[in-house]
Amino acid sequence: MREIGHFIGGKPVAGTSGKFSDVFNPAAGELTARVALADAADVNKAVAAAAAAFPAWASTPPLRRARVMFKLKELLERDRSQFAAIITSEHGKVLSDADGEVTRGLEVVEFACGIPHLTKGEYSDLIATGMDSWSVRQPLGIVAGITPFNFPLMVPLWMAPVALACGNCFVLKPSEKDPSASLKLAELLTEAGLPDGVFNVVQGAREAVETIIAHPDIAAISFVGSTAIAETIYRGGTAAGKRVQALGGAKNHLVVMPDADLDDAVDALMGSAYGAAGERCMAVSVAVAVGNVGDALVKKLEPRVRALKIGPGTDPDAEMGPLVTKEHREKVKGYVDLGVKEGAKLVVDGRNMKFQGYENGYFIGGCLFDEVRTDMRIYREEIFGPVLSVVRAPDLAGATRMVNAHEYGNGVAIFTADGGAARDFANAVQIGMVGVNVPIPVPMAYHSFGGWKRSLFGDHHIYGPEGVRFYTRYKAVMQRWPGGARRGPEYVMPTLGR
Ligand code: NAD
Repeated sequence: MREIGHFIGGKPVAGTSGKFSDVFNPAAGELTARVALADAADVNKAVAAAAAAFPAWASTPPLRRARVMFKLKELLERDRSQFAAIITSEHGKVLSDADGEVTRGLEVVEFACGIPHLTKGEYSDLIATGMDSWSVRQPLGIVAGITPFNFPLMVPLWMAPVALACGNCFVLKPSEKDPSASLKLAELLTEAGLPDGVFNVVQGAREAVETIIAHPDIAAISFVGSTAIAETIYRGGTAAGKRVQALGGAKNHLVVMPDADLDDAVDALMGSAYGAAGERCMAVSVAVAVGNVGDALVKKLEPRVRALKIGPGTDPDAEMGPLVTKEHREKVKGYVDLGVKEGAKLVVDGRNMKFQGYENGYFIGGCLFDEVRTDMRIYREEIFGPVLSVVRAPDLAGATRMVNAHEYGNGVAIFTADGGAARDFANAVQIGMVGVNVPIPVPMAYHSFGGWKRSLFGDHHIYGPEGVRFYTRYKAVMQRWPGGARRGPEYVMPTLGR
């Protein structure tokens, strides 16, 4: 059995805890490897390696750090198909989607190549006679990243390039469900010239995370995952004096206005609800049909959901792969059972779909519910599978109230031909990322990503300019050199400008 270990101090290291978790190929339903689960001793080793590397890395000129990022960009491009294959083999998403994941991660590396410009600060000449002032942004120290299964390369790349380019050392704790991409990333960073110990990977689960939260030498934590864990990590990390950004779960609505191009809206719903089998934090799981558009929308959606091409991620014709694990598939099926019990109308039932040659794979067909109400659990809770719920709202004000009343606030979209309606909606909606005729509004790497309400705990969105702020501390320096008339002691509050 292949064993997946850690990466500490610039080299692969086997786990010492004696604890492991199984890793599967979700399309085949086969056990392919076991991954070490770090205990406190493993995490401490990674933090010690990072602490030893920090002084030299923090004082490396930002331009040289940027050059490591330039090289990493080249290497990621060289190995992009290997990354896509690794992601598909452990996560299950189709290869073209895995390739898209590589691209969206690469874009953050490209952003981090500009770090000398991003951290250069501001300068004021003559804030007083003979006195100048400037600001700098300095690294925090050792920062940790804890990442989810659904983007095993992209989400680590939302964090590490910005953190490293800012001069921090990094300890990554990836998902134990698909751990291999993180190790390949660590190897490429070493090949790109990153000094040993600056980037470390500890595989693991709860014990590793609890050690990270409590570790006195870790200055900050970036977390992406489900809301319950995000909140625990935010509370624990901030109580331990750390800076924390913790991105959580989602229930993203797509509002279809009566004047929308319905075919366009249906295409958008298909891709955003069923792409990656719904296992995206920006997946649309609720279609809000406004006015009388509901029946026509469902009529157009139904045959499309039935015609979804489902198969192993390696099949170039497949539009949707399996779910990540058997347990997760059972959870998603359980939600579909619940929706039927709650009285929603199951228009397309994908629960018992069989796939020839892949009978053991963790597949489920696309599911479509109509007549969903906002008091139902299938509306309120994140399902994280290929299940789309259609709800109805009388008008835009009603749709906006519905979206705003939901506990999650990650992404939302409106499909309409009315610019004024779109503008009002984008202003009023209590959601972090808004699409107008764009179903999955994931900001580019030079903007920043994050939700509102219970989709993000903390003050900073992730990557982009917000990422630079998160991974650095602001310092202001005021300077005067001797010369000119002696001023003598000044007992009043310094009122600069004199
Ligand atoms: P998860 O919360 O189960 O796991 C995330 C990380 O936390 C993993 O590294 C895992 O090992 C660790 N973890 C799990 N249970 C833990 C515990 N009890 N104590 C400490 N650590 C624990 O999430 P997941 O299932 O891997 O990912 C799916 C979730 O992530 C969904 O809710 C999805 O919406 C969310 N997500 C959010 C975003 C975003 O940007 N907001 C992006 C991707 C995924």
